[in-house]
Formats: sequence, structure tokens, C-alpha cells
Amino acid sequence: MATTEQAIIRDYPRLSLDDPITFQCDQALDCFTTCCRDVSIVLTPYDVARLKKALGVDSSEFLDKHTISPFTKDQKFPAVLLRMDQATKKCPFVTETGCSVYANRPWACRMYPLGVAEPRNATPADRAFHFLLREDICHGHGLGRARTVREYLAEQGLEEYEAMNASFKELMLHEFWDQEEALAPEKLDMYYMACFELDRFRRFVFETRFLELFEIDEARVEAVRTDDAELLDLAMQWLRFALFREKTMKIKPSVVEAKPREIHHG
Ligand code: SF4
Ligand code: SF4
Repeated sequence: MATTEQAIIRDYPRLSLDDPITFQCDQALDCFTTCCRDVSIVLTPYDVARLKKALGVDSSEFLDKHTISPFTKDQKFPAVLLRMDQATKKCPFVTETGCSVYANRPWACRMYPLGVAEPRNATPADRAFHFLLREDICHGHGLGRARTVREYLAEQGLEEYEAMNASFKELMLHEFWDQEEALAPEKLDMYYMACFELDRFRRFVFETRFLELFEIDEARVEAVRTDDAELLDLAMQWLRFALFREKTMKIKPSVVEAKPREIHHG
């Protein structure tokens, strides 16, 4: 039986950025907020960074309180999903008047009802494409004016999210995962910290030997101190060094002879 992903790649009409869609989400619709219930919202590192900042909490607190991280033996790395309320199955941020974190809502919420399929090892004939999800619960299809996919993505503020998620996407699609059986618990923890626990990663940078080991220019160090986007950029770069053994970080000459364990763990 085909997986959902295979079915999408095989069966769904493929939309280009210039194709029109006619869709309008509106508070007046009888379906208003029904899509914010009993749904799997996978969070990206940038989603977590935006949401924890909007809520004024530490990333670890946000993750503990609002997310689940299912990890089965079939997965190469853990995913982070919004935790729906156990009793009502509602998203923790939905209210009667809509999304209480609307300005910082996750990538997946911005995209809906558009989806994007990214065949692995894409070829010119089989590259990433958008598709429209038509679900019975959603009554916004056919309403409003026609817009191109490109216009819809811009209206939803997705350009910034795409740019901020680019290095994470590269990380997930890396060929390393094709060969790797399973990450050791220690490496899984590194992955989770660098991708999602940004405040913990900041402490790792500033409160361990990290800055003694790696050459990072001063302006960047100062930016990383307060700017989560800069920190995330460094986190992705370090993860490629630490997990894939890529030369994405420059080790200070004085510690070049250090044991790999010391270098990778600050
Ligand atoms: S984050 Fe907002 S838009 Fe997304 S499911 Fe929750 S309430 Fe709905
Ligand atoms: S179900 Fe569709 S139209 Fe209704 S609130 Fe959700 S996205 Fe909007």
C-alpha cells in the first residue's frame, strides 16, 4: 500500500508558483477553527524559536509544555509536534476568536490548505511542487478571489519561514541519514538541542569551552548572544560539523590536536 507521501507524489495535481488557487479562510465560516483540532502540526526549529519568544518562555519550557516528540525505531531523528489538549484535542493556542499566536503561527498553519511535496533526490522531471489539500472539514475552497500560489505564500508570510528553515531542510535531506542506522542517544540529544532547545544551545555556546575551541568572529559571537536567528544559523552549522563530520566549523589552531570528543562536545 502506498504511503500518504507516495500517494501525493503519484496522484495529486501539481501546482506551480504561478498556478491560481481560490481559497479564503474567514471567521464567518462554519468551519472556523475546526482545523485547529486533532491535527498533527510538525514544528520546525524556526517555529519553536518564534513561538517561545512570542510566549516569553525558555525554549525547553515551551517544548515541555506545548509539544510532543514521538520517536519510533523507523525514524532517523525525532520530530517535534504541537501537543493537542488531551481532553478536547484542541491546539493549545486556539480560542473562540481564532489563533492566539497568529503573528507567530507555525509554518504548517501558514501553509494550510497548501502542501509541499519534495521528492528526495529530485530530478528536473520530479522536483518539489505544491498541492492543494481538499478536506471535508474546510469550507474555504472556491471562496474569495483567485490568487497564485506565489501570492498566497507571500500573504502568509512564508518567505521568511522558508529562508529560516532552509538550512534545517538541508540537514534533514542530507545523505548522511541514508547510511546511518540510528543515532546514539548522545547525538540525538545534540540534534534536539541544536534544532529546538535554542536557549540551551546558547548556554552550551557561552558556558562551555565552545568558544575556546572554534574560531568565530567577535561580531558573530555578539549577535549569537541575543539574536535567535543568528544562533539557529550557528546551531545548524555546528550540527553538520558534529554529526556529519563536515568542515563547517573552523577549529582554533591551538586545539587542532584535541581529541574529536573534546571538539564535538565543547
Ligand atoms: S497554532 Fe494557531 S493556527 Fe495553528 S493550529 Fe494552533 S490555533 Fe490553529
Ligand atoms: S477549516 Fe479551512 S476555512 Fe475553516 S478555519 Fe480552517 S482553514 Fe479556514
